[in-house]
Amino acid sequence: MKVRLRNPDREVELAGGRKIHDVLGELGINPDTVLVIRERELLTREDRVGETDVIEIRPVISGGAGNRMKCRRCKAPAVVEIRRHNAAFCAECFVRHVRAQVKRATEAHDMFEPTDRILVAVSGGKDSLALWDVLLELGYRADGLYLGLGIGEYSERSHEVARAFARERDAHLVEVDLARDYGFDVPTAGRKGSRSTCAVCGLSKRYVFNRAAREGGYDVIATGHNLDDEAATLLGNTLRWQTDYIARQSPVLPAKEGFARKVKPLYRLSELETAAFAFLRGIDYVVQECPLVGGNTQLRYKEAMNQLESTSPGTKAQFFLGYLDRAAPLFATQAEVQLVGCERCGQPTTGRFCAFCRARAQILGERLEGPRDERGSPGGPRDDRETAEALSDEVMPVEIYGTLRP
Ligand code: AMP
Ligand code: ZN
Repeated sequence: MKVRLRNPDREVELAGGRKIHDVLGELGINPDTVLVIRERELLTREDRVGETDVIEIRPVISGGAGNRMKCRRCKAPAVVEIRRHNAAFCAECFVRHVRAQVKRATEAHDMFEPTDRILVAVSGGKDSLALWDVLLELGYRADGLYLGLGIGEYSERSHEVARAFARERDAHLVEVDLARDYGFDVPTAGRKGSRSTCAVCGLSKRYVFNRAAREGGYDVIATGHNLDDEAATLLGNTLRWQTDYIARQSPVLPAKEGFARKVKPLYRLSELETAAFAFLRGIDYVVQECPLVGGNTQLRYKEAMNQLESTSPGTKAQFFLGYLDRAAPLFATQAEVQLVGCERCGQPTTGRFCAFCRARAQILGERLEGPRDERGSPGGPRDDRETAEALSDEVMPVEIYGTLRP
């Protein structure tokens, strides 16, 4: 039989007439990290494949349940197994389960009012499209936001997928393009600036998301961060004891002067669940990962968490959800900052120019001019702390969380 593996794409011939479990074992693949697909059907660990079958193995998507497993809710044959819940679901009940988890997350943290205008940041990947789908189905007023990063074919395909999704659902997609609207793309930024490619990409996303939400009159911006993302970020912050980042790792960042509210409604769902959901909902998403991130630290933390999860299902959820319940209050801080409008773009910042405008000027080889501040340095303060914040995964942390002084 033929096995198509994704990321990187390749094909192998293997002996058929056996269970998926054996096939994955031979390939050394952890069943909890992939989705196994035959035609338009999901296969589980206990399913058998024949000699002439063609199957696809997609990473970070779950397969799992066996023939003998029954849906927890309706007892029909299960197609998705969620080991940490010790449960399996049929397609229909799984879709309900995902929506229920999103509802639970949004209610627990007061993420939206029914009348709120939501801007969903969609990358074209499984998580953000799944999120947009759930919010539309739950009846929210949700528009999408796609940011073109200029990462070659990867960005083009992502853009196409996001547009197709919007078209099919008659939903509105706001489109921003870094090169067109700001004069640089991410690969150029990586070569020309002093920041790493991922850092300047993250900084640009946070900046554009906020600006698009504010200027478009949206109440809240929603991103597709899932349980795996949040657990990996928390692990990284904990390993370095970055207590102020730990304090800010919340599924809701409240609105502050100049900053829109930010929410992560998928934080209760694993990557496996969002991928299986996207597949079962027939959502065409980009399976390819960003070609520039290869082997970054976040990915290593995810792998470490997956390893723990494979022997102790539930580890990720205990770690992150347990943090939210029991540890987050212990890290709360009272940092105070004073925000002013960036002299270049008007977005809130602690210095004269915001981190995005400084990075952009550096990439474009421009000087940021204007009256000097009291420190006499064009471009405003640039101490270690500020640099660290610009590089943080969170949204301009102190600026968001610090108490505003009038
Ligand atoms: P990442 O930073 O790639 O891990 O993505 C985290 C979240 O940011 C995604 O779930 C999306 O909500 C959002 N996002 C990432 N890339 C884009 C993009 N190019 N355009 C719009 N939103 C994005
Ligand atoms: Zn600025």
